Amino acid sequence: MIEGGDIVWSGQFGEEPKDITSGAVRHDYGDDLILPGFIDGHAHYPQTGVIASFGTQLLEWLEKYTFPEESLFSDLNYAREKASLFLDLLLSNGTTTAAVYCTVHRESAEAFFEEATSRNLRMIAGKVLMDRNAPLTVMDTALSGYEDTKSLIEKWHGRGRNLYAVTPRFAPTSTPEQLEACGALISEFDDVYLQTHVAENLDEIKWVADLFPNAASYQDVYAHYKMIGPRSLYGHAIHMDDADLAMAAETQTKFVHCPTSNLFMGSGLFDLNRVWKAGIDVMLGCDVGGGTSLSPFATMKAAYEIAQQAGFSLTPEVAFWLSTAGGAETLSLGDKIGRLEPGYEADIVVLNLKSTPIIQQRVERAESLRDILFAQMILADDRAIRAVYTSGNRIKAKQKITNGRDREQAR
Ligand SMILES: [Zn+2]
Repeated sequence: MIEGGDIVWSGQFGEEPKDITSGAVRHDYGDDLILPGFIDGHAHYPQTGVIASFGTQLLEWLEKYTFPEESLFSDLNYAREKASLFLDLLLSNGTTTAAVYCTVHRESAEAFFEEATSRNLRMIAGKVLMDRNAPLTVMDTALSGYEDTKSLIEKWHGRGRNLYAVTPRFAPTSTPEQLEACGALISEFDDVYLQTHVAENLDEIKWVADLFPNAASYQDVYAHYKMIGPRSLYGHAIHMDDADLAMAAETQTKFVHCPTSNLFMGSGLFDLNRVWKAGIDVMLGCDVGGGTSLSPFATMKAAYEIAQQAGFSLTPEVAFWLSTAGGAETLSLGDKIGRLEPGYEADIVVLNLKSTPIIQQRVERAESLRDILFAQMILADDRAIRAVYTSGNRIKAKQKITNGRDREQAR
């Protein structure tokens, strides 16, 4: 039961209390699976256009594909068009919350928050900060980056459902002065997030060691500038030593595992079980455009396949939890989104569990809910998304409803 954008009751069909159902409109999805909307911990909306770019690893990929595309986002109208496309793609894949990188241009963040607001979405985003080692068209300065970020926080953080993340791209493209400004921003505004990349690629790690010779490790650079902590989201974190993991656990720093990106870019294999054993909260991210799909199913599948390489089998229960309630907890939003319980924001996805013939035949022989969920995470895509609700409003399902079950019944 949804009222005013929030869930007011949840439970078994037919057991709903009469006093709150009078006058309600029923949306009947038969035996489809109703879940909290999916949550993605790491994506770059301006890179939607460079997804599936051939033949490079991280540093060359940035130079050749990403920076030229990101340079276009100084144009507010271009940024709006791409933000709109990205959010529609996210929603059509069932993802209702994401932590998103914009570009260095203030306009890119304005456009994203405007589009997220017009859809009433709970989104986390921030203007990228980069003041060295990049083309001039995608650079700010330590001062302008600080001032733009500060005024964007004041304008957007906590406005509607928007949340702000201070977003330095990664240590190699920020001067020590800029990293210091990032640390200052998160201490000045203690409930904003920080998101960046760490230890993704071996050449990148060597570069960081050259640029910051006094740091004990890549993560130690960020620690030095007071950028780690419970609201700091570190993308990738593949090549971390035991001291790094101990530091992350002690400071409650969060990791975002981006498996399709790590495979596509040849970055390395994240050891989920090792990171968990170290006591670190992890969530999943698509990392588009380094990642190859906006579908949470594709991300879960790749996480499963990478874990298998280390002899660890990621269960579908845990994979779905990471993409809903667990992801919400990692984002410190565990009391607002990620569960279908009274008081939670009504971001909901409805899954057709038999969306293609191959899934249908697998589900028909399933012996448990685990089997059914596992078939989805390995085989499903956006065709499985029957409907999406954000803040209680149904976003029209893109695919044609053919079995007539998706009807509304006025009571
Ligand atoms: Zn990324």
